[in-house]
Amino acid sequence: MESKSKILLIYTGGTIGMIKDYRSGALMPFDFSELESKIPELSQLECTIKSISFEHPIDSSNMKPQDWLKIAGLIEQNYDLFDGFVVLHGSDTMSYTSSALSYMLENLSKPVVFTGSQLPIGDLRTDAKENLITSIQIAALKEKNKPLIQEVCLYFEYKLYRANRTTKVNAEHFKAFESPNFPPLITSGVHLKINYSSLLKPKGNKKLVVHKALDNNVAILKLFPGFSEKLLEGVLRVPDLKAIILETYGAGNAPTEEWLFRELKKAIEKGIHIVNVTQCYGGSVLMGSYKTSEVLKKLPLINGGDITTEAAITKLMYLLGSRVSKKSFQTIFETSLRGEMT
Ligand code: ASP
Repeated sequence: MESKSKILLIYTGGTIGMIKDYRSGALMPFDFSELESKIPELSQLECTIKSISFEHPIDSSNMKPQDWLKIAGLIEQNYDLFDGFVVLHGSDTMSYTSSALSYMLENLSKPVVFTGSQLPIGDLRTDAKENLITSIQIAALKEKNKPLIQEVCLYFEYKLYRANRTTKVNAEHFKAFESPNFPPLITSGVHLKINYSSLLKPKGNKKLVVHKALDNNVAILKLFPGFSEKLLEGVLRVPDLKAIILETYGAGNAPTEEWLFRELKKAIEKGIHIVNVTQCYGGSVLMGSYKTSEVLKKLPLINGGDITTEAAITKLMYLLGSRVSKKSFQTIFETSLRGEMT
C-alpha cells in the first residue's frame, strides 16, 4: 500500500482566496487561515495537508520575479518534508509564474501543481473547490511509493496541463487555460485519466537544484501591420536590453522591409538575442517556409518553435540569469529543457 502523501499548499493570492468588499464591491484577499472553514471537504482527503501563505497575498497582476523566488524558496525549504506542492495563484499571470518555476526547479522529482479559480472560494457557484480538491488529489498521487507527477503543472477546469505549455485564454469562462501544442497530462472525469506517455520521465536520484538568478532585461515585441521603424529603434535603445521575444505572424513571418532586417541585424551584432515566436495561438515557427521568414532565418533569429510567449520570456530570464555564454545561447534556447517545446 502507498504511504499517505503530505501536501504543502502555498497561497500567494488571486481570486481563489478573495472575498468581496461589500462597500466597494471590489475583490480583496482574505485570511488564508480560514481556508479549511471555507472548504470543510479538505479534511476528507486521503492525505495530510499543511498550508502556508504569502504574508501579503497579491493579485497575480502584481507578481514579479522576486515573488517567483519566494515560491521557489518555500518549495526548496520544504522539499524533503512533503510529497507534493499545490500553489494557489491568480490566473492572470499563472502561466508566467509556473513557466518560470519549471526552469528554476531543476531535477524536480515531486509535483508542483498551480491552480486558482475564476470565482472566489466563498461564491456559491465557485470553481475554486473542484480546482483545489482535484489539484491536491493529483499532487498526492503515488505509484510504487513515488510521486506520479514529477514536474510543474497547472490544473484548471478538469484538466492538468504541463505548466510551461499553457496560456490564459479566457477572462470569464471557467475553462480559462489551454495548452495548444501539448495534450493534457490528466483529464478529470468520473476517474482521473492519466496520459502516461506525456508525463516528464523521472530524473533518477538527481538532487533538486533551485536556480535563483533571473535577468529581466528582456522585452516582448509584437508585430502588427503598421509596426514602424521608429518603434523598433526605440525598443532597441532600451539600456541593458539583452533579449527580445519577437512575436511574428503565422509560421514565423515578418514584413520584408529593409529597415527591419537592418535593425535586427544591428541588434544581434550588439549581442541582443532575438527569438522568433509565433503570435498564433497554436502551431510552430518554421523559418524559411515563406519568403517573409527566409531573411529572419539568415540573420539568424533564434527559433522559438512551438513555445508559448509565457514560456519563452521566462526561459530568457532564466538563461540570461544563468549566464549562458553568447556562443551557446541559441542552441540552448532551441533545446527543450523542461518539456516546454516539441
Ligand atoms: N486578477 C486575479 C489574479 O490574477 C484573477 C484571478 O485570480 O483569476 O490574481
